[in-house]
Amino acid sequence: MSLLTRDVSCREAVELVTDFLEDALSARDRRRLERHLAKCDGCAGYLEQVRAVVVATGAVGPEDLEPATLQGLVELFEQYKGDS
Ligand SMILES: [Zn+2]
Repeated sequence: MSLLTRDVSCREAVELVTDFLEDALSARDRRRLERHLAKCDGCAGYLEQVRAVVVATGAVGPEDLEPATLQGLVELFEQYKGDS
């Protein structure tokens, strides 16, 4: 939660993933997210899951998914991270 760190936290990364998949991130945010994904298997896996669900449901992007679907993925992600 530190504002001093330049790296995105996992929680921020999860929030950025939606915009990332919709190509709505600024170049700077995209780079920050990609840098985080490169060193964080949990978030990289989450991105792949969301991407797979978007493709499977034929949605245009994450915003098209049922909120419950997206929420379920976030919960899966948090279980995977063992973040409590
Ligand atoms: Zn992460």
